[in-house]
Amino acid sequence: MSTRMNRTTDRPTVPVELLLLSAGYCLHPEFVTLRGGSMRPAAYPAGFACIRHPSRGWILFDTGYSARFRELTASLPYSLYRRLTPVRLSEEATAVRQLAKLGIGAKDVGYVILSHFHADHIGGARDFPDARFLYPQAAYDAVRALGPVRATRAGFIAGLLPDAFADAATPIEREAQAADPGEGAPFQGCLDLFGDGSLISVPLPGHAAGQIGLLLSTANSRVLLCADASWSSRALRENRPPHPAAGLVMHDRAAYRDTFERLRRWQAADPKLIIVPSHCRDYFDLDGKEVRRL
Ligand SMILES: [Zn+2]
Repeated sequence: MSTRMNRTTDRPTVPVELLLLSAGYCLHPEFVTLRGGSMRPAAYPAGFACIRHPSRGWILFDTGYSARFRELTASLPYSLYRRLTPVRLSEEATAVRQLAKLGIGAKDVGYVILSHFHADHIGGARDFPDARFLYPQAAYDAVRALGPVRATRAGFIAGLLPDAFADAATPIEREAQAADPGEGAPFQGCLDLFGDGSLISVPLPGHAAGQIGLLLSTANSRVLLCADASWSSRALRENRPPHPAAGLVMHDRAAYRDTFERLRRWQAADPKLIIVPSHCRDYFDLDGKEVRRL
């Protein structure tokens, strides 16, 4: 295993294992997520990452959908969410079931890190009752007090979160130290989540209030899990941000555009960095049968 030095702290950057999985997918006309894309519906996997840290064990970054999403969106106003983005999910495809197949029990997951609070990211959260939840404060503050109608508009369904989430979960800002994501990274406010350089949160505002990405190193690659800051690698590569219609589900269009530009600059400055959007089919299998490792 390679031991690389963290440029700012001179501590070794702890490499982790990274598995990319998806739990369900939704349908959107392609043009909503890719400028100039087609009117036909395209399928977008609800990707999540399973990370093995050498001393902290298994960690999830987001969770995808769960059957609970279907139950909670059966009636108004949450059913509007489902009508806007039809969801396909087999029971087999939930995060907890897929992890079990890989020999990882729900109790083996020590941490769940949430990028933001949209239902396709927090959908499986209740399946990991023993995990410690870490989340960006601004992302939760933006949705926690919303009534059902405004929550639906913000893509948030409170019933998907574990009971007592507000008391038991930890905002990343509470304990994490400031981190430098490295040369060429045009983002401020990054945090070293475990104090060992293994997992660094990167603020990626715009798509949702307070959204974060996660920067990490595996034995082979340096990876930025960029959540929904772009819908696909292709959109970033070809500089095709979403159609303004996507602004309907977007927290702040100007911030989205700025974050998108910064990701492109970072990629240009560091061509080896692998940027992984949560719904990108280059990295996530649609029916959750294939596990990608980076
Ligand atoms: Zn989202």
